[in-house]
Amino acid sequence: MNTLLKDRNILIMGIANKWSIAWAIAQVFKKAGARLAFSYQGEKSLRSLEKLIDDWEEKPLLVECDVTKDEDIQRLFEKVKEGFGTLHGVVHSIAHAKKEELEGLYLDTSREGYLLAQNISVYSLVAVSKYAKPLMTEGGSIVTLTYLGGERVVKNYNVMGVAKSALDSSIRYLAADLGKDNIRVNGVSAAPIKTLAAKGVRGFTDMLKGFEEKTPLKRLIQPEEVANTALFLCSPLSSGITGEIIHVDGGYNILGY
Ligand code: NAD
Repeated sequence: MNTLLKDRNILIMGIANKWSIAWAIAQVFKKAGARLAFSYQGEKSLRSLEKLIDDWEEKPLLVECDVTKDEDIQRLFEKVKEGFGTLHGVVHSIAHAKKEELEGLYLDTSREGYLLAQNISVYSLVAVSKYAKPLMTEGGSIVTLTYLGGERVVKNYNVMGVAKSALDSSIRYLAADLGKDNIRVNGVSAAPIKTLAAKGVRGFTDMLKGFEEKTPLKRLIQPEEVANTALFLCSPLSSGITGEIIHVDGGYNILGY
């Protein structure tokens, strides 16, 4: 238990089940004393969430939000305003691409698939930041989840890699826009972790094996380690940091071989 987020109101977007990185973040944030709201997509995620928080004494606010719908995002922030008044942090842990475009050649990406990946995985951060801003009257921190596939070519990551490049760039543009309001925007670039979204990438299990062998720390990275960095980025400990992307990948990104 620590008090890094005591009296902080934080919205976490993107818990689908117990394997979600956002769920690891939620648990770490709860231990740090945050008051939490969760947005979820669809009935299945709601059922998982309800089970996960069954034994929580202080229940988080739960709001459905499909980020492809502006009216859902607007309603989400209305509910957050009703529930919290002021918002101090948002964790955006959302991405999606068509499964058939996470294999084969990037060259074969369809226009529809390209736009879908950008819409859900990138534009959502822009829209969410816009709605969060008026609620962050005491300053705030927005954190998103990114991946090395936006910086380098990772086999089969294809359209999602290009979306992560745009997400990385959005972090910097949003950080520049929102800095004067004392709102910081940063990213955590996570190592491969077995989740529902990751399993959509063809060959993901082999990728995990290769990662473990190559990465300087010689082991897989746990979701809690990603969550601890998100905690740092949402806490006053990182008050001077914005527009930054921190790799939580055991050093994998430094390798040139
Ligand atoms: P996950 O499947 O648990 O989470 C993805 C979330 O995106 C789900 O909760 C899903 O409901 C949500 N989502 C998809 N479409 C949506 C929509 N239209 N509206 C609202 N929500 C929607 O998988 P995860 O691995 O925890 O992914 C979380 C984030 O972490 C993603 O941005 C992912 O790219 C990133 N990331 C994951 C890894 C990894 O290896 N797992 C590595 C680096 C970065």
